[in-house]
Amino acid sequence: DFDDENGAYIKVNKDQIAYRYEIIETLGKGSFGQVLKCFDHKRKEHVAVKIIRSKKRFQQQGMVEVNILQHLKNIDHDNSINVVHMKEYFYFRNHLCISFEILGINLYELIKKNNYQGFSIHLVRRFAYSILQCMKVMYKENIIHCDMKPENILLRQKGSSAIKVIDFGSGCFESQRIYTYIQSRFYRAPEIILGIPYTTAIDMWSFGCILVELFTGYPIFPGENEAEQLAMIMEVIDLPPAHILAEASRRKLFFDSKNMPRNLNTKLFKKRRVGSKSLAQILKTTDTNFVDFVSRCLDWDPAVRMNADDALKHPWILELKKKSSKDVRPKHRHRREAETSIEHDNTLRNFTN
Ligand code: ADP
Ligand code: MG
Repeated sequence: DFDDENGAYIKVNKDQIAYRYEIIETLGKGSFGQVLKCFDHKRKEHVAVKIIRSKKRFQQQGMVEVNILQHLKNIDHDNSINVVHMKEYFYFRNHLCISFEILGINLYELIKKNNYQGFSIHLVRRFAYSILQCMKVMYKENIIHCDMKPENILLRQKGSSAIKVIDFGSGCFESQRIYTYIQSRFYRAPEIILGIPYTTAIDMWSFGCILVELFTGYPIFPGENEAEQLAMIMEVIDLPPAHILAEASRRKLFFDSKNMPRNLNTKLFKKRRVGSKSLAQILKTTDTNFVDFVSRCLDWDPAVRMNADDALKHPWILELKKKSSKDVRPKHRHRREAETSIEHDNTLRNFTN
């Protein structure tokens, strides 16, 4: 089908048709398909094209991704909500394809490049602030990302600590949840493991896990299966409150009739003890504001857990404003103050070079 001007082909002249997208290299692979760096001969610019697997389930979810991206782009007038911009979507040989602006490497690759040493508290706070810009809008618009993890947060470009969130391929509007089993295991909120209806709060859980990983270099709860995932969580934040377990459709898989964890002390879990590790210990920091911030992301109860608005008012985040207001900067930069301070920060260079 060669009359597909907005899709995979372009008219070169009256009777010549050519492929529109020239593949340059592979940018990444994920569960939904692959992402290629391409030159778009119609727009005359490089783009990232995500080619979604042709199975029906992936195509359907791919259209959900398109809808969410379109919705977020429509309200992102000054490119400040830190969500990747979709350019267009089309079908190519039965595959849904979505083209995006090109971004830099993802935060997991950055952690790896830094030899898993973790970033300074200042840099972690800047990342946190930028990610919260996106989470604030998702919270307001009732959008759940459902797969927040370092692989899905990309640097905007080289040598900058500004980021954008990508991959709404598991996302949904809160009112239109389809799947019950979502999120990548290390970042999976307890309500998903336990089988409790979920809200935007599951992204806040993942966000807490991401911040720990950015700071220490390692995932805080690297469970090899969901039972171990829950065991690792309980080591740090104790047992779930009874009212949470009362709602949990999967309670019996993990807890006995007295609400005590099954198989926690089997040799499978190397004698993990409930409440035996503190967050301050794991983080190895004396920054009590940071410890408090993370602990408010990692609350069993989604209703008690911080939301993005609360998070932006937390003292740990407000320290960023205090610091940046001390900076001397030309007047015209004040409109996008915090963002500017991120873009002009060169802490990152020390890590990436
Ligand atoms: P999946 O749903 O399969 O995980 P993603 O949308 O997360 O697909 O893309 C997979 C990987 O491709 C990402 O982790 C990232 O490294 C890379 N990638 C995706 N989008 C872009 C982009 N716009 N620019 C550069 N790299 C990208
Ligand atoms: Mg992904």
